[in-house]
Amino acid sequence: MLSYEEWKSRAGALTFRDKAFIDGRFVDAASGKTFDSINPATGAVLAQVAEGDAADIDHAVQAARRAFEDGRWSRMAPGGRKDVLLKLAGLIRANLEELALLDSLDMGKLVSDAATVDVPGAAHFFQWYAEAIDKLYDEVAPTGPGDLALITREPLGVVGAVTPWNFPLDMATWKAAAALAGGNSVVLKPAEQSPLSALRLAELAVEAGLPDGVFNVVPGFGPTAGKALGLHMDVDCLAFTGSTATGKMFMQYAGQSNLKAVWPETGGKSPNLVFADCADLDTAADMAAFGIFFNQGEVCSANSRLYVERSIKDIFVEKLIQRAEATQPGDPLNPASKMGAIVNEVQTRRIMEFVEGGKASARLATGGARVTVDGKGCFVQPTVFDDVSHNDPLAREEIFGPVLSVIAFDTEAEAVQMANDSVYGLAASVWTDDLGRALRVSKNLRAGTVSVNTVDALSAQTPFGGMKQSGFGRDLSLHSLDKYTGLKTTWIKYKP
Ligand code: NAD
Repeated sequence: MLSYEEWKSRAGALTFRDKAFIDGRFVDAASGKTFDSINPATGAVLAQVAEGDAADIDHAVQAARRAFEDGRWSRMAPGGRKDVLLKLAGLIRANLEELALLDSLDMGKLVSDAATVDVPGAAHFFQWYAEAIDKLYDEVAPTGPGDLALITREPLGVVGAVTPWNFPLDMATWKAAAALAGGNSVVLKPAEQSPLSALRLAELAVEAGLPDGVFNVVPGFGPTAGKALGLHMDVDCLAFTGSTATGKMFMQYAGQSNLKAVWPETGGKSPNLVFADCADLDTAADMAAFGIFFNQGEVCSANSRLYVERSIKDIFVEKLIQRAEATQPGDPLNPASKMGAIVNEVQTRRIMEFVEGGKASARLATGGARVTVDGKGCFVQPTVFDDVSHNDPLAREEIFGPVLSVIAFDTEAEAVQMANDSVYGLAASVWTDDLGRALRVSKNLRAGTVSVNTVDALSAQTPFGGMKQSGFGRDLSLHSLDKYTGLKTTWIKYKP
């Protein structure tokens, strides 16, 4: 890992890709407009980025369509596509420090996390899908003599992807790696708060040998560029990660346009249930703190509701306070910092509104203040509220910040009932040493991922996505390819 001085010096020497990437090259927005990309840790303008809108989205979709129809990628032999994506994985690793800095500067996350989690993750996910491409077999249906029915998986065409700002490189990768592995062309609209790493990724993809037009990135705002992608008549599939409200809009855009497949992966308010029979409360507390303070709590599956059995609640809250107080925010470029900056001013104010409301309705156990680092930036202390009412906004709304709500429970049934009483169902965690309880509770929790004796379990091999208003798309694993491919039946008659 580089030192603080080395990260700062590399950050100072960075150049930013600030134009849209369409048909294999960087271009200005058709309107000529730009928007500022701001470092939330300092308030400094990093770059003026091309502000794509409907015209640029249309250019990108046309380029993606041309590339798809002439088969330069969609009909390339699986081994050829595998080689290109493997090379891309290698290029991501070779440019690890630059990519880590881009995400850290653009949205405030710790550069040490970006360098050890986000960027290696992106390389791994591209490699994982690359290695899968030439190992996927199609099917032959069990028809009778004289009939041969082939069931083949075919790319859909042009995949639109719209992503959020909390894991900019990884969210772009989760969509692009699987969609490209499936043989599609992609038009990605990254979040306006954090477009820089996706633009560099597109450039690296072409360097790896991805043909022009197959992967396009159009930066811009949601209600213009994002909406244009959602409404485009020539986009076959729209993969979305972001808030539940925007996910619902994409479902409407599909209905108002060409009935494109829409895969929403949306918000969460994930419960973490700690039972008194959990012997290792220190590990449970470490992970409960990690589950809400990692990435400043800007994690869709953040364990933001903590249900603790009443007999151990006070001692557990004491452990949490110690851990929260050891996780104070600092300069995201300093490897010694424990937490980074909140993505921007708007999100910081939103978090603080919840915190101020919480001070009147619950007991503030620790934190609760907005702070600066070196007199600048958007930083919020790790905050724990105790004795939160189950119906308090603290326990119901997705805050998307480092704010934990603790609620005591008396029985297993009550814990499960409160955990499930949410419009969201993205993830949940359970801490218990009773195997029967672990199986029973995880079965009864309505969540896409249940982590037992850990939090936020996630891998390339397992699907990630939600239930209820957390959406129904699944990223990661081979199941993700279901989103980006369609089944075709080819029925052949022959003389038996
Ligand atoms: P957001 O919904 O505001 O924005 C997400 C994307 O949608 C951005 O690219 C934005 O430009 C675009 N967008 C916004 N309004 C739009 C509109 N009217 N039409 C078309 N596009 C529009 O979400 P955010 O604030 O960027 O991200 C935070 C949210 O993302 C949280 O709710 C979080 O839970 C969710 N998230 C979910 C997952 C998951 O896998 N389920 C992962 C990460 C983040």
